[in-house]
Amino acid sequence: MTLSRRLLLATALLLPLTQTPAYPQTLAYPQTLAYPQTLAYPQTDDAELTAKAKAIHDRVLKLDTHVDIDPANFTKECNYTQRLATQVNLPKMVDGDMDVSFFIVYVGQRLPTEEEYAYAYEQAIEKFDAIHRFTKEIAPDQIGLALSPAEVRSLHRQGKRIAVIGIENGYPIGTDIRRVKEFYDRGGRYMSLAHNGNSQLADSNTGEATGYSFNNGLSPLGRQVVAEMNRLGMMIDLSHPSKGANLETIGLSKAPVIASHSSARALANHSRNMDDEQLLAVKKSGGVVQIVGFASYLKTDSKERAAAIAKMRADLGFGGGAAASSFRPPVARNRACPVEDPNLSATAGDPTARMRSMFLSRLSPDQRKAYETRMAEIDAQFPPTPRASVKDMVDHIDYAVKLIGIDHVGISSDFDGGGGIDGWNSASEAFNVTLELVRRGYTEEQIDKLWSGNLLRVWEDVEKVAKQIQAQASVTQ
Ligand SMILES: [Zn+2]
Repeated sequence: MTLSRRLLLATALLLPLTQTPAYPQTLAYPQTLAYPQTLAYPQTDDAELTAKAKAIHDRVLKLDTHVDIDPANFTKECNYTQRLATQVNLPKMVDGDMDVSFFIVYVGQRLPTEEEYAYAYEQAIEKFDAIHRFTKEIAPDQIGLALSPAEVRSLHRQGKRIAVIGIENGYPIGTDIRRVKEFYDRGGRYMSLAHNGNSQLADSNTGEATGYSFNNGLSPLGRQVVAEMNRLGMMIDLSHPSKGANLETIGLSKAPVIASHSSARALANHSRNMDDEQLLAVKKSGGVVQIVGFASYLKTDSKERAAAIAKMRADLGFGGGAAASSFRPPVARNRACPVEDPNLSATAGDPTARMRSMFLSRLSPDQRKAYETRMAEIDAQFPPTPRASVKDMVDHIDYAVKLIGIDHVGISSDFDGGGGIDGWNSASEAFNVTLELVRRGYTEEQIDKLWSGNLLRVWEDVEKVAKQIQAQASVTQ
């Protein structure tokens, strides 16, 4: 098996580790793993179709609900005004004409202790501060932070790129319900109640394999958080919690809900995806499911391969990503700014290869050797499915649209958090998504809904419900 092929194969293994809090600081950002430029995209299309897609792409507002960040890339010296090797930054948003990025305050699941809550809270604040620093101090002339759909539209009219803050995992609120409002006041406009691993608020999708803490649902505090998010006008994100927690949340929530980055389980049997019952429940709430360009949520490996990888992880003591721990990665020191190699094309840089390199750099030489050996055996015995493409993602969009209707489906990438597929490896390549939608016969009005209209409508509805709740509270006081 060739090296480049090997590099593309590790996605499933890497998933649980790609969102650990910081880049491995022992290496300069791995730049040497250039993406093999053999992609199927863009396909040869007739010029008319491409021109039509370009015109539509130009006119609709393009919004991505899930983009992870590393605060180390939000400093005065090293930031998203530069063409970094990240999948999203301002030059790449301009390349792909992407208007809006939800930048994510993500904190991984840790143990439910006061000490760990405090550490997680610090990490969350560092990310909130990074986004504010970027939009207010570093590049206020190029990008603004939107706190409402109205602000998204007004910043767009001013010709600026737009940042919105989403919170992935409610774990850093600890056991203090007041922190929900604090995070709202810091700009958070959606939040999920769990990530991979059960939290103090909600059971996780990973409970399918490891067991649930709250009977496949919410904790009493999680139920309070749902009510508080409704009251504040914060969207509830169902990507990552368990099916039971999600159905319970939808039942409790007075406002529509979202899934910020999930795909259809009927097409890819991964616990992170939504089955038909959940998709229909989101529709019933008036909400939206943002289908995600994340390769292993679009096409899954064979059961045998997944089992072999899980066994290898357990044997080597890497954990499953779902188990909470108290491991703290080393803090960045003298980190090189990951400026993209100018010799690469704008679309180069395979995120899977980069993440694999980051993962490997965290291992000791012995662990690394053991991992490489076992992976080679697994690759030989159970070859992975080819990496998912834009076509596979639009298959999921088609499926969801047929099941729950065009008003309840949207688009997300999970860039810099494991996302990326053939044809949509970075914000630079967003046009390929529009092109595929046009190729399948979606109209401009429908594409507008998918790229942003639905999400902004849901957000407005969540704001309206909050105003009603606040008005009722002031009447009854
Ligand atoms: Zn995620």
